[in-house]
Amino acid sequence: MNETLQPIFDEVLARNPGEDEFHQATRELLESLDPVVRLHPEYADAAIIRRICEPERQIIFRVPWVDDNGQVQLNRGFRVEFNSALGPYKGGLRFHPSVYLGIIKFLGFEQIFKNALTGMPIGGGKGGSDFDPKGRSDAEVMRFCQSFMTELYRHIGEHTDVPAGDIGVGGREIGYMFGQYKRITNRYESGVLTGKGISWGGSLVRTEATGYGTVYFAQEILKARGTSLDGTKVVVSGSGNVATYAIEKAAALGATVVACSDSSGYVVDEAGIDLELLKEVKEVQRARIDTYAEKRGDSATFVAGGSVWDVPCDIALPCATQNELDEAAAATLVRNGCTVVAEGANMPCTPEAVRVLTEAGVSFAPGKAANAGGVATSALEMQQNASRDSWSFDYTESRLQETMVRIHDRCLETADAYGQPGSYVAGANIAGFIQVADAMLALGVI
Ligand code: NDP
Repeated sequence: MNETLQPIFDEVLARNPGEDEFHQATRELLESLDPVVRLHPEYADAAIIRRICEPERQIIFRVPWVDDNGQVQLNRGFRVEFNSALGPYKGGLRFHPSVYLGIIKFLGFEQIFKNALTGMPIGGGKGGSDFDPKGRSDAEVMRFCQSFMTELYRHIGEHTDVPAGDIGVGGREIGYMFGQYKRITNRYESGVLTGKGISWGGSLVRTEATGYGTVYFAQEILKARGTSLDGTKVVVSGSGNVATYAIEKAAALGATVVACSDSSGYVVDEAGIDLELLKEVKEVQRARIDTYAEKRGDSATFVAGGSVWDVPCDIALPCATQNELDEAAAATLVRNGCTVVAEGANMPCTPEAVRVLTEAGVSFAPGKAANAGGVATSALEMQQNASRDSWSFDYTESRLQETMVRIHDRCLETADAYGQPGSYVAGANIAGFIQVADAMLALGVI
């Protein structure tokens, strides 16, 4: 890091002790900004980079609720409203036992630049709780969501902050939270949350958008390399929302998706993952991934624990969680001839993994570019809510695809312009940063 950026990073470390994921995300951004600060000293003069690393507002709150046995349970809720230079804070809610402030801040920080890249008028934020929905009844999940929203409602609104889903938060949870928001505020304010059900203000394609968008991004990378998805072997990690629809779109574009996973292990299915069966197991039964192999018969095997990245593939789409693809996994992918890695999840590749991939000539697309289709389609949901309209699947998907192509091209053009041809990391970080930084300069010291 150069002499302007290093002290800023040192300050981030000192002001945010123990928040490893947040440090990792800020370091990754700052490392790309060297050519930017050389060309634009005004950003340093106005302390734009220092200010961008400090959230505008951080909310931490108690979430008490009663389980099915009548016992009082206690969780912690978070909302980090990171940057609103471009629009209302926008970003998902994560319910997972690993959640603490450092994870929410890393996700909120990434979200600022991702949202800028979409070209839509949305700022960056993120929230969640250390609540674990796994093994909880619907009634328990509802009581938790109602208690969570009983505090969160006063901080959000269609012009202020618009949460959505993330790990552990899907249509069911968004429904319970929207119901409680509506009840407390006595307003049918559709635009306050995205990821809603189709019959009550949701958008077609929102469920599919992150996974589809990641595959569209991978398709653009392959086009730039003079090839296509057709006939390729793909490995996807995870089997949640993003993974499911990445598998669906990759298969639709002619690839064979040979493996996917959850936190208990992975399945290899050389015939190609059977999506209907996967949805039945994960979405309906809410079962573990070994159930898929049990029901699928001969073509599939389950491997407990282990790394899904051991399965040979041409294209890897990490779609589970942060830091799930490390240096050793990256080396295995390279050895097996993988040529493209596109992040469906947020920061799933460790910095060492990114280095190994990049040095080996693998095209690497960071999450803030490759998974931006989810939030872009959330912004389309907000547009439909604002105009009390609902668009067709095909039209909405065409908007998603155009957005992914635009983000891809913008990354490459920006990387070129700043002397780092072919680097999607540099392109995404610099393009996202400049857009937010210019807006902050225009808005004065606030
Ligand atoms: P889901 O909860 O639907 O699925 C998460 C998947 O990842 C599950 O298969 C889960 O397995 C696995 N997983 C989660 N945590 C771990 C862990 N610590 N170790 C191993 N596996 C794990 O979440 P989403 O699909 O919505 O989100 C996946 C990723 O995509 C996250 O990084 C999220 O931030 C990112 N993302 C999501 C967007 C969206 O629109 N939903 C938008 C942009 C990014 P298990 O069930 O066993 O825990």
